[in-house]
Amino acid sequence: MQLCYIDESGTPESTGNTSHFVLAGLSIPDEFWRFHLTQLETIKSKYDLQEAEIHVAWMAQRYRDQESVPGFNSMTFADRRNTVGIQRTRKVKKLKQNLNGKSRKTLRFFRRTNDYIHLTLQERRQVITEIAKLISSWDDVRLFAECIDKGFFDPARSRRTIEEQAFEQIVSRFEHFLKANHPRDPHYGLIIHDNNQSVAEKHSKLMKTFLSDGTLWTHIDYVIETPMFVDSELTYMVQMADLCAYAIRRYIENSESQLFNLVFQRAQKRGNRTVSVRHFTKNSCTCTICRSH
Ligand SMILES: [Zn+2]
Repeated sequence: MQLCYIDESGTPESTGNTSHFVLAGLSIPDEFWRFHLTQLETIKSKYDLQEAEIHVAWMAQRYRDQESVPGFNSMTFADRRNTVGIQRTRKVKKLKQNLNGKSRKTLRFFRRTNDYIHLTLQERRQVITEIAKLISSWDDVRLFAECIDKGFFDPARSRRTIEEQAFEQIVSRFEHFLKANHPRDPHYGLIIHDNNQSVAEKHSKLMKTFLSDGTLWTHIDYVIETPMFVDSELTYMVQMADLCAYAIRRYIENSESQLFNLVFQRAQKRGNRTVSVRHFTKNSCTCTICRSH
């Protein structure tokens, strides 16, 4: 059995502050799942992140309140957490007395970054890089992704929305992979999706039509069931899919190649061509994904 963990980066709406929507899937054979989880937990415990969700977009930001603590870098993890924690508790009290758009944004920022306040920005980046390196070493794992340039996507010409197109592509490529990986006796595959109320129902319905009628690209024989929706806070491998989606989007939008070059090694190849990751954009694009597709 192959377990394909799916998560997204960027917003599917044409508005929003990202130019791309990326849906990424990371397929892990069931027999190696426990081994990979243990490897991941080893990195997390090194940084005292055992219970934390690895959410790259929140970790990679600057925490200005943390940076203003004198001698922060030479403190122990416990002292750092304690010092920033006390500051934040005071600030939260003040912010709650005057709730508006700005204060709500700061409160949200505090909530999301609370698990990482004992790590400096450099350490947080180091964790992300170590995990990306770990993913790049997983020879038995495959990366699937559909990266949609929202400026290039024409809703009038497409039979699907941006999210639906991305999901159909991932399901099709996952199915192709299952057939090609063990052509004599293909393994079955299950999709495990980050729970998101707005997509759960849509993707379940869409998957049912794929199971009965196939996608535009293939008949579906080996991807089984509708997607399992899980809480990304609790499911580590969905967090790995999130890291991959983030790395791909940051490469396409900002040319940040460090994380991308690591996770892209897990894409499925046929000869020299990468077949499991696509950049849906103008023909003239010369990014690594387009050049190798
Ligand atoms: Zn491209």
